[in-house]
Amino acid sequence: MKVYQQYINGEFRDAASREQFEVVNPFTEKVVAMAPKGGVEDAALALEAASSARKAWAAKPCAERAVFLKKMAEVIRGNREMLARTLAEEQAKVLPLAQVEIDATAEYFDYYAGWSRKYEGEVIQSDRPTENILLYRQPIGIVVGICPWNFPFFVMARKVAPSILTGCPIILKPSSDTPNTTFEFAKLIAGIGLPKGVLNFVSGGGSTLGDALVKSPEAGLITLTGSVETGQRIIAATAENITKTSLELGGKAPVIVCDDCDLDLTVKAVVASRVIFSGQVCNCAERVYVEESIYDEFMTRLTKAMAAVAYGDPFADPAPDMSSQINEAQMLKIEAMVKKAKVEGAEVLVGGGRGDDQPSGFFYKPTLLANCTQDMEIVRKEIFGPVLPVVKVSGFDEALNLANDCEYGLTSSIFTKNVTKMMRAINELEFGETYVNREHFEAIQGFHAGWRKSGIGGADGKHGLYEYLQTHVAYIQY
Ligand code: NAD
Repeated sequence: MKVYQQYINGEFRDAASREQFEVVNPFTEKVVAMAPKGGVEDAALALEAASSARKAWAAKPCAERAVFLKKMAEVIRGNREMLARTLAEEQAKVLPLAQVEIDATAEYFDYYAGWSRKYEGEVIQSDRPTENILLYRQPIGIVVGICPWNFPFFVMARKVAPSILTGCPIILKPSSDTPNTTFEFAKLIAGIGLPKGVLNFVSGGGSTLGDALVKSPEAGLITLTGSVETGQRIIAATAENITKTSLELGGKAPVIVCDDCDLDLTVKAVVASRVIFSGQVCNCAERVYVEESIYDEFMTRLTKAMAAVAYGDPFADPAPDMSSQINEAQMLKIEAMVKKAKVEGAEVLVGGGRGDDQPSGFFYKPTLLANCTQDMEIVRKEIFGPVLPVVKVSGFDEALNLANDCEYGLTSSIFTKNVTKMMRAINELEFGETYVNREHFEAIQGFHAGWRKSGIGGADGKHGLYEYLQTHVAYIQY
């Protein structure tokens, strides 16, 4: 079994308390690693290290900082299989998807390395004849990055890459469900020559270690990817110091299926979107609105496709479509939501229970629910599992209204060949992203940002980079 240490100020160290926690493989239900249970003292050490590194790191030319991102991409590619297997093991992600995540993470570091000579300040016109006004973009300071368990490696890069590029030291805390890949990465980058304190990895509880980091007056930016509830706690915890937050939170992505859509493409995309990583993806199909005139045909095809979804061992060859949920609590949450939906009138067309035909693991069967209505919890709250509720609508206007009637606003999608419906959806859907005729998944050069309770700020691309930079305007009179 592996035993990990935190990486603080360029050194590997146990938690100050010497305590550890177990990391469990959700498929085998066996402990695969022990990780340090860091707390308030560890937070203080990491903050001190980042604080000591801050000025020198910010003063380094951006192109020199970017070299480290290229090195990170290189070590990831050189250790692809080990990292993918570690990821698949700690979270029961099917191996091909784990490989995709590792590859995308290397791409992410390369992508932000490419911004090194590209981001700029501005020259602003002055009202005075002998004055120049310059807007600089300067590093925001120490970044505290808090990660979820669903894409632990990719989301780590989403926070580390822009921090390193913009000259901000970072303290990164993985989820206690999935620290292994992050700590393997820490071992790999320990030899690339980064100055001490620029990149620190700690692990431990959210309400202890996480809270101490978030509340620190030293922090310039708190970037969380996680649930709405944690986002709310972080907003409260940062109130005293008015620390900037960038919050990527939960979603309840609607899919609008129009009567003129390509049914084969739509069914394939919707099912893939719902079951990828066992439904544990923030931007994937969480509820479907289908126009009445094609409802029966669509449901016949969807039932067949959902029933064909294979689940099992994440390391099996050929790989199944999905595997176990991350832990027992998630499986129980999904089970309770489906039970409630049934009481409220939903009809189970496929699945509807635990996948207890497996030797071990926290499986919930791919599940399709018909007769769903907008007032049901299963249509309103994030499920984060392989369960798809479908609502029949009288037409396109009703679909738009119901899609927008939601406390989340992360992503949305529409399947249609009709240009008017397409354009109306893009103009009228109140979400950070809309996918047209394709399944959910964002590009690293886009901007992943939610409306309403799905978050504040965002990640990726030019706009994601700006989260790590603050403006400084100089008025120069001569
Ligand atoms: P979570 O909110 O339970 O935990 C996320 C992280 O926050 C963990 O590292 C946890 O330890 C930490 N944390 C918890 N309480 C804290 C506190 N008081 N102070 C500081 N840190 C604290 O989320 P999760 O269960 O790991 O992830 C699933 C959720 O993440 C889902 O809601 C999903 O939609 C969302 N998510 C969103 C995106 C996005 O880009 N919008 C991407 C992936 C996941």
